[in-house]
Amino acid sequence: MRHRIRSAREDALTATEANLLLMACHDLLDHLIIRLPLHAGLRVGECQHLKASWLNWDKGQIIIPSRQECSCYECRKWRNEVWTPKTRAGQRSLLIVPELEPYLRQLDGGVNRSRQALEQRFERIRSRSGLAKVCYPHALRASFATRLAEEGISAPSLVYFMGWENLDPAESYIQSSMKRAHSEFRHVFGTKGANSGFADVGDCKEK
Ligand SMILES: [Zn+2]
Repeated sequence: MRHRIRSAREDALTATEANLLLMACHDLLDHLIIRLPLHAGLRVGECQHLKASWLNWDKGQIIIPSRQECSCYECRKWRNEVWTPKTRAGQRSLLIVPELEPYLRQLDGGVNRSRQALEQRFERIRSRSGLAKVCYPHALRASFATRLAEEGISAPSLVYFMGWENLDPAESYIQSSMKRAHSEFRHVFGTKGANSGFADVGDCKEK
């Protein structure tokens, strides 16, 4: 597979690139396929199994359950008709941001599509969008993580929102956003390189 060697983090989209995909969305399903991973970090399997019953409008949250009875082809074939998130940490609640809200409000019942159907739909949006770089649904989830890291979210919170089992993936996002922050800092203040005395502050890892 083409993205075995690369990590999705390297393929995260900028806001401008993500906008190309959004502009190529034609209907509700298109918007959900792009916006759920981009604005809430959902995995493809979670998008597939999203039900209106996951939405708590009082709290403004998408609540991913620990299990859900499901008669989709994949769950019948491989999961004994019970869908569960990819990891135990996949059971989490995500905030419904304004970029998602109007689309989730239109959700009637659930997404109810196969993984293959969602991936094919994604590919059609991508090809209409004219986006030149490599892109697949997981890269949108990586874009969400990158944005949170760049906004300065803590590693434990990032781990929670992404449904990761441990801190390891969070560290690489936070390290790379730190590098970017340092480079922007140098750009603003015109300091040069690591000998400015500022650059190694964030390198002290707490263990
Ligand atoms: Zn299923």
